[in-house]
Amino acid sequence: MDFRLSGEQKDIVAAAKEFATGEFPDRAQEFDRNESFDQDIWRKACELGFVGVFIPEEYDGAGYGFLEHCLITEEFWAVDPGIGQAVLSCTFGSEILMLFGTEAQKQTVLPKLVAGEALMATAITEPNAGSDPTGAVTTAVKDGDSWVINGSKIFATNGNLADYMMMFCLTDPDNPKKHRRHSFILVPTHLEGYESTKLYGKMGIRASDTAELSLKDLRVPVENLVGKEGEGFNELMAFFNRTRLHICAQGVGLARAALEESIRHTKGREQFGAPLASFQNTQFKLAEMATRTRASRNLYYEAAWELDHGNIDHALIAMAKWYSAENAVRCADAAVQMHGGYGYIDEYKVQRLYRDAKILEIYEGSKEMEKTIIAGTLVR
Ligand SMILES: Cc1cc2nc3c(=O)[nH]c(=O)nc-3n(C[C@H](O)[C@H](O)[C@H](O)COP(=O)(O)OP(=O)(O)OC[C@H]3O[C@@H](n4cnc5c(N)ncnc54)[C@H](O)[C@@H]3O)c2cc1C
Repeated sequence: MDFRLSGEQKDIVAAAKEFATGEFPDRAQEFDRNESFDQDIWRKACELGFVGVFIPEEYDGAGYGFLEHCLITEEFWAVDPGIGQAVLSCTFGSEILMLFGTEAQKQTVLPKLVAGEALMATAITEPNAGSDPTGAVTTAVKDGDSWVINGSKIFATNGNLADYMMMFCLTDPDNPKKHRRHSFILVPTHLEGYESTKLYGKMGIRASDTAELSLKDLRVPVENLVGKEGEGFNELMAFFNRTRLHICAQGVGLARAALEESIRHTKGREQFGAPLASFQNTQFKLAEMATRTRASRNLYYEAAWELDHGNIDHALIAMAKWYSAENAVRCADAAVQMHGGYGYIDEYKVQRLYRDAKILEIYEGSKEMEKTIIAGTLVR
């Protein structure tokens, strides 16, 4: 067993860290307060090759695995989760295209994502269908050479900015099997009938765009079906096996930031005539944070390595996602506590980390859903 990163992987980590520490900190508070993002940062990240590294070389990607994507994610999130999310979620949905798209679909979209010329997003969640995507009722009905889409989606990351939306639609509502009723359709967002509204007031990752979508008689060419008709649910599960690892790496980056900020603060601040870091209570907290964060990282290293070698272990991926998310929330909480009153003020990074962390336990399958998957493999 070899847990060491290769020389090339270490270079990727170093370059990602250098980019994020150079570009993110000066703007992080501004973006968080204004719920905005300067897309020039995303374009620069694309120019330097950090976006879509898992996209194969024939589509202008670097042809790396998901492990390399996770390594970049960890570095970006360790500097700022909101900006990390805004930059790296711009390929969200390309995983479905890579797995199930036609050659023409891949050639049209993937090179643009790598070059920073287009942005892709995915809309699954609906007002009445979150944890249970089989409840999605946005319909796509075939009419001549088009799909006609009607319905609404909620919480779509980059829904206001995306050029392409990977849309989870109900295509066979009468199928007796609820897992055979949906399909993915690639929606160019400039088409008439696609309307997005920005959602303001998020607790965290506020640099990242989130939208509500309204789809009214949106006509998309029939050839924009991605994968097989009626196989959307299974394709979604395959997608989650990739994207959940991304969330695990997000959690590791955030937890690492919480730990680093806590070490810096507790070494520098004195109470009762001694640095906070000299108190056993502080030291135990730091030790727990470091240990759980390392365990989270090892989980994504293992799960991503397995995935990149063609072994998909749903339970391991669910473990990685749940454990890392929960650890990030705990670490951010501990960091605020160790900062005392300063941790409650938004000038301090740990305040943002505390708010940013919570989403990790909710999106891409809540922690309860991850535990359901893990338990399912134990008691089946
Ligand atoms: C900032 C943000 C970005 C997002 N980005 C996207 C995106 O890009 N695309 C997209 O499609 N969606 C996105 N989402 C949606 C996200 O994936 C959903 O919010 C999530 O899946 C949970 O669904 P829900 O909000 O409907 O909660 P619900 O499904 O209503 O769940 C509420 C609670 O009940 C629990 N629960 C539900 N069912 C069970 C059960 N059977 N057993 C035990 N507990 C259960 C859940 O775990 C959760 O704690 C985003 C959400 C946010 C907030």
